[in-house]
Amino acid sequence: MTTIKLAIQKSGRLSEGSMDLIRRCGIKVKNGIGKLKAEASNFPIEFLFLRDDDIPGYVQDGIADIGIIGENVMVEEDRDVTVLHKLGFSRCRLSIAVPKGDQYNGVKDLQDKSIATSYPKILKNYLDEHGVVADIHEISGSVEIAPSIGLADAVCDIVSSGSTLFQNGLKEVEKIFYSEAVMVGSPNMAEEKMELVRKLLFRIKSLQTAES
Ligand code: ATP
Ligand code: ZN
Repeated sequence: MTTIKLAIQKSGRLSEGSMDLIRRCGIKVKNGIGKLKAEASNFPIEFLFLRDDDIPGYVQDGIADIGIIGENVMVEEDRDVTVLHKLGFSRCRLSIAVPKGDQYNGVKDLQDKSIATSYPKILKNYLDEHGVVADIHEISGSVEIAPSIGLADAVCDIVSSGSTLFQNGLKEVEKIFYSEAVMVGSPNMAEEKMELVRKLLFRIKSLQTAES
């Protein structure tokens, strides 16, 4: 029997929303907690629990058929995957922030500055669009402390309420990318699998219609 494999973030800001969505679709997950894999008792679907950054690559390579990730990770990873549906949770934005006391009059002020980020591609696209050349420092975590330890002049990081920036003496100066969770899929999925994916998407869309 055909089964689809759905990649979900193992633990983080997408995990709860992703599992909650699956449950609200009426899908019963068997013994999933803390494992790498789980299955469902009433729908032909398997779950793979992974780091979110790895999901686009696994979907592109067909290890998973579909996945739930933030649009920010989809754009940053730049793999051959397509957005099947927007899911409306884990909304956030990617913003540039500078130390609170700095003068800031516009994106041109970032010329020749160093900017720390975990999203070098999205940042570079933005700077290129605005004709600004800056030194992009890719770091994988705790981006917001970079200016206070002298590692960079500015940061480009994920913001939801802005309180983390504020606590680190930073102010948000450019909002460069808006993101929410999306369902992605491989562009060349077998038709039997696509049929199951359509069934799943139909349930998700019905939920969203009922709630709107
Ligand atoms: P992993 O260990 O899986 O690599 P991570 O640390 O990269 O996790 P999280 O912080 O869990 O990632 O964020 C996962 C995704 O959730 C982000 O890529 C973004 O799309 C979204 N997100 C991040 N921060 C927030 C936030 N404060 N509010 C809402 N959504 C967020
Ligand atoms: Zn990640």
